[in-house]
This record gives sequence, C-alpha cells and structure tokens, in this order.
Amino acid sequence: MVLLTKAPRGTADVLPEDSYKRKFVEDILSDYASQADFKEIRTPVFEHTELFKRSVGETTDVVQKEMYTFEDNGHRSITLRPEVTAGCARAFLEHGLYNEPLPQKYYYIASCYRYEKPQAGRLREFHQFGVETLGTDSPAADAEIIALARQIFDVFEITDIELEINSIGCPACRSKYHVELKKYFESKKDRLCETCLSRLERNPMRILDCKSPICQEVAKDAPVMLDYLCDDCREHFGKVKKYLDAMDIDYKVNPRIVRGLDYYTNTVFEFVSTGIGAQGTVCGGGRYNGLIKELSGNNIPACGFGMGIERLLLLIAAKGRGIPEEARPVIYIAPASEEYTFKALALTDEFRCDGVHALTDLGGRSLKAQMKYANKRKVQYTAVLGEDEVKQNKITVKNMDNGEQTEFALDTFTEDFLPIAHDCGLTNIFGNIDEFFGSDSNDNNDDGFNGGNPFLSLLNGGKK
Ligand code: ATP
Ligand code: MG
Repeated sequence: MVLLTKAPRGTADVLPEDSYKRKFVEDILSDYASQADFKEIRTPVFEHTELFKRSVGETTDVVQKEMYTFEDNGHRSITLRPEVTAGCARAFLEHGLYNEPLPQKYYYIASCYRYEKPQAGRLREFHQFGVETLGTDSPAADAEIIALARQIFDVFEITDIELEINSIGCPACRSKYHVELKKYFESKKDRLCETCLSRLERNPMRILDCKSPICQEVAKDAPVMLDYLCDDCREHFGKVKKYLDAMDIDYKVNPRIVRGLDYYTNTVFEFVSTGIGAQGTVCGGGRYNGLIKELSGNNIPACGFGMGIERLLLLIAAKGRGIPEEARPVIYIAPASEEYTFKALALTDEFRCDGVHALTDLGGRSLKAQMKYANKRKVQYTAVLGEDEVKQNKITVKNMDNGEQTEFALDTFTEDFLPIAHDCGLTNIFGNIDEFFGSDSNDNNDDGFNGGNPFLSLLNGGKK
C-alpha cells in the first residue's frame, strides 16, 4: 500500500507553494536564453538506447551505471534521457536543421533521469536548463554560452560561485596524451577501482572523472591535457580566455576538469559553488565537435552547457536574492447565499476574461467563512453580492488592506473596477492581453513591448 502513497526514491513533487518559484526561475532562464538568441527546443523524454551509448559514451558513469533502460512492447531498447544534448543533436540531424543558417542555437528546460544515490542536489529525476550552439567552431561561441550562464548567476545575485575552465584538446592531441596517461595509471593499477581498471584500456581519461576517493587520490599527480594541446587547440583555448577577459568574466583554469561525458573536445567548463554541500557543480558544459560526427559522419562543431535546476534553486535559496512573493489574488466575490452563486461565478468569469485574478466561493460557505478564506488567501479586495446589491444595482468593494469601501454600479462593475485591478498589477501575465500580444497583431509594436516576460523587467528593476 505504501507504494500508492509514496513517490519513487529520488523523485520530488513540486507542490504549489514551490511551483510558482520554480516557474519564476524558469521564466528568467528562458528570457535570458531568448535574449541571447537561443530558441527553445523540446525533444522526447525517451530515445533509443543506442543514441546515448554512442553520444554520451560507453565508458561513462552515466551509460555504465545510471541509465533507466527498458525494452518496450515492440522489443526496442529505450532509455529515459539522462541528458538532453544527445536528443538535440538527434533532432538537428533528423530534421535537416544543418541546412538552416548556422549556427543553430537552442535552449531547453527538461527533465532528466539517472539512477544515482539520492541526496541533496542529486535526484533520479531532475531538471536541466541547457543551451546548444550547433554549427560553429568559433571560440566566441564557447565564450557566449559561458557568459549566458554567468548572467544567470548574476541576476540571482549568486556570488559564491566560480567558473573553472580547461581544454581537453582534439582527438589528435588527445591520443598522445592518452598514451602518457595510460602509462601513469598502469603503474598504479592496483589502487584503481574495478570500473577504472576497465577504463584504463578503453578511455583512461575517464579515470580522472571517477567519484571514488581512492581513484581521485591516484589521479592527483597524473599528467594534464593542457601540456599536450596541439597548436590549434592551444590557440582555441587562448581565444576563449581572451573573449572571457573582454567580457570581464573571471575564471580559473583547472586542468583537472574533464567532464563526465565522452563527447567533449577543446573547451570544458564548470560553475562550482561551495555553498550547497557536496553537489557543488551547478553547471557544466563545453565544446563537442565530435558529437554530430559520431552520430552521422557530418563534421558539425558544437558547444553547450547543462545547468541543474534543482541545484540552482538550492543555491538561490542559500545564497541568492529572494524570489518575490507569489502575486495576491485581486478580488473575491462573496455570494451572500446560494441564490447569488450564479451571478458571483459569472462576475468572476468576466474578471478572469479581462485578466484579473478573481475568486469566488465554491463550497456553499457562510459569509463569515468566506471572509476568513479570502483573508487566508491574502485577497486584495472583497465584494459581497446579495439581495440588496441586485435590487439596487450597486456593489461595494472593500480594500482588505486599509478597510476603504468603494461603491460601483453592479451592471458595469467588472468594467469600472478594471483601473483598480490594473493598479494591483495584473497578476496573470496574460492579463492585459492587448498589451501582451501587442494592441494590433498586424501592427509593429511601437511601445517596445513585444511579448517579452514582465518578470525580466521586474528583476532588472524596471529595465527591459
Ligand atoms: P555530478 O558530477 O554532480 O554527477 P555530472 O557531471 O554528472 O554532475 P552533467 O552530466 O554535467 O553532471 O549535468 C549537468 C548538470 O546537471 C550538473 O552540473 C548538475 O547541476 C545537474 N545534475 C547532474 N546530475 C544530477 C542529478 N542526479 N540530480 C540533480 N542534478 C543533477
Ligand atoms: Mg553525475
């Protein structure tokens, strides 16, 4: 029976008290991605298992230990996405998006699934915000995505976070490095974990990413890729740093970062915080020039990052600026008795059509109980609707904050109340439909409000 009332381990419900915060954060993420000209992409929650094996890499922890893989009724091997880049690359190829002007720039906010030991900041179902830039090898593209991640931490006033960057070269220079790395680990073989022993032959760099403390200790003095970069890779890394300098973005070169997924080449980076315990890597990314080639043979360079939304939320809660309080409902229409519930719901409905956050009674409650409820819901105005109001064509609205009362003609009530509702701020972001979509969709919006999200201006202190 417990199974019916307990969610699977490593999953989390987002209840209403938190979901508005999450939506607020997600709106900011999409706003910032959009203004950097990334377009949203949505791909399926599951893909063919082979896609992840080929792209993420057979020797990674993700593929070896963490995937949710099952056979469907058609005997296909299916895997719940452990990350989103593979699906984006697959969609890019499937739909021939390489024929569109390049680079193609996508962002996503998506659930991911990894069978891991659940703990703070580590779940089995988690969410990532990420971006992909496909079709350019320019180091400016690497720097652009790093700058986007930086802006996001900045807007939430998260200062306790460091950017670490590294280059892991290209297959050509990496093969020389692999030989040296293998030599190094061969001599310390007896201390490596079993998984790393198998990596020694196939992909010794993976050992650098092992979570076992003993393997990490052994890896401490291993040779670093930076010393083996070829001229092109060295130049690329140099330019990435120059672009970051030009944008005043602080970074630390950490030659130990290799990233957990096989498809990375050249730039790799992580944003690491010490403020949220062991799971301090909030965002990881880099360049993966080999990924599309691995899937299709096409030589299409790309870069991107993935940011864990749950870890970002932990960071915001621990260190960042507060998320504004949830918007209060504007008006509560209280029917004095059952007879007036019809008119009350009709008025509420009219308000809602005009974008006003309005409530009424759904439970046949007494007026006293309704007022108690309206207070609990922090409603800004209440109005009682009963026999007198209907007979005399008037309705009195009470400001719940200062007790002030204002009378309106009942038959034009919703229209006449609108200016007050506007002053409360239309809490529904679609509230002022005209303003939101532009007063005439054929018109160019001359007020500069082009369907952007009002939250962004809220956080920017009114600047859009
Ligand atoms: P870690 O080293 O913490 O396992 P990772 O290298 O496996 O992270 P990536 O594959 O780079 O993580 O994913 C990008 C981001 O997604 C991480 O930086 C993190 O914020 C988030 N993330 C990864 N795995 C989880 C998880 N199991 N639960 C919550 N967030 C996660
Ligand atoms: Mg991991």
